[in-house]
Amino acid sequence: MGKSYPLYGLFPTVWNPLVYLDYNNLWRKMDEMGKEIPAEAPWDAPHAAEWDKMTMKELISKICWTKAARDFATLFVNVNVTSEPHEVSALWFLWYVKQCGGTTRIFSVTNGGQERKFVGGSGQITEKIMQRLGGRVKLERPVVHIDQSGENVIVQTLNHEKYEGKYVISAIPPGLTTKIHFNPELPTKRNQLIQRLPMGSVIKCMVYYKEAFWRKMDYCGSMVIEDEEAPISITLDDTKPDGSVPAIMGFILTRKAFKLVHLSKEERKKKICELYAKVLGSEEALHPVHYEEKNWSAEQYSGGCYTVYFPPGIMTQYGRIIRESFGRIYFAGTETATQWSGYMEGAVQAGERAAREILCKMGKISESEIWKSEPESKDVPALPITTTFWERNLPSLPGLLMLVGVFTPMAALGLFAYKKGLLFRN
Ligand SMILES: Cc1cc2nc3c(=O)[nH]c(=O)nc-3n(C[C@H](O)[C@H](O)[C@H](O)COP(=O)(O)OP(=O)(O)OC[C@H]3O[C@@H](n4cnc5c(N)ncnc54)[C@H](O)[C@@H]3O)c2cc1C
Repeated sequence: MGKSYPLYGLFPTVWNPLVYLDYNNLWRKMDEMGKEIPAEAPWDAPHAAEWDKMTMKELISKICWTKAARDFATLFVNVNVTSEPHEVSALWFLWYVKQCGGTTRIFSVTNGGQERKFVGGSGQITEKIMQRLGGRVKLERPVVHIDQSGENVIVQTLNHEKYEGKYVISAIPPGLTTKIHFNPELPTKRNQLIQRLPMGSVIKCMVYYKEAFWRKMDYCGSMVIEDEEAPISITLDDTKPDGSVPAIMGFILTRKAFKLVHLSKEERKKKICELYAKVLGSEEALHPVHYEEKNWSAEQYSGGCYTVYFPPGIMTQYGRIIRESFGRIYFAGTETATQWSGYMEGAVQAGERAAREILCKMGKISESEIWKSEPESKDVPALPITTTFWERNLPSLPGLLMLVGVFTPMAALGLFAYKKGLLFRN
């Protein structure tokens, strides 16, 4: 808030012990609530109905007593799901964090969601798969019609090509299926579900510099920026692993993406560089050598990013439909995953699960094999997330006030009794 300071841990350093208790209780409470939610069936959580009626804004207001904790919790929602706390269901958000391993795992670089990068870029995954599949991957052919009224399923593209197969896997965000015509028509519940899952909003901004000047200042390049006027809320050092192409990647998120989308690219670049100069305390930030940005909300075949969000009430009513096949159409896409949904990892899990559902239908594998999980990475295994004794046991702010409320009269009584010599008998 107008001041910069180095961050040594994951969450803001706080000097005020009351704010510290509030922060600590926030992460602990969200993780505790997440433990109650089954990753594969959040709608079955014991408090599903109650939590799904609530927005994250309401839950944050219930848990947090200080403005600092409320503001950071808002940023936490903005960063993780590119949407606002008042837009999303508390049940869905708690599930989302839980299926990414909890508050620390989802937000961490080291040993967390942002740790790993692909040398050469993640786009290579699809490019390499495409090479392996020869000419079978067809680009720039949006599907507009799926007909499963006959013996085979016939898929028609916008440029009037037709493809035929025994089964179809649809791996697009649910909302984009509204662009496809189905014969027979989608079942009622899926037809309603696909109208109820909006995508988040983000503009990804890359600022390139001659050198990684922040490293000379002993900064890692990850900035967490809490200022309503700041365009960017979070950054990462995106310099290539060999030290070439120094860059800072930053996200313009949700309400800020909405607010700044009308500016020109040049105007956004200027605002961002001025912000980095202020946060890093360095004039060098004002002199980038290049700038690139991508407004994902303007992408016709994404609709927004990183993923969908569930507004209140949708998860309990329609959630269970998300992976339900319809005739010979099976549904994949990261939104249907039960681990790292919203991420590439989730997309892979979902694709493999949908493929195995079809193999099962074809009688090639048993039902119990559908949910086979991926083996843990041998190169970079995820290490357990540990908490300290104090993180587990410190009271919440209201808990502390209650303790003070109970113990202050007791202490006064004790003091009185001691003074009167009532406490000791010879
Ligand atoms: C800015 C940003 C940053 C991100 N950062 C990370 C990160 O650091 N780590 C991470 O793991 N994930 C990250 N993600 C999320 C990740 O990109 C997604 O989770 C992942 O791409 C989802 O994969 P998918 O296959 O489910 O869907 P998509 O990748 O969205 O693929 C769906 C495809 O379907 C196509 N399509 C849409 N409609 C039709 C149609 N009618 N016919 C035919 N094709 C159609 C689309 O063009 C698209 O190619 C990020 C996303 C964004 C936007």
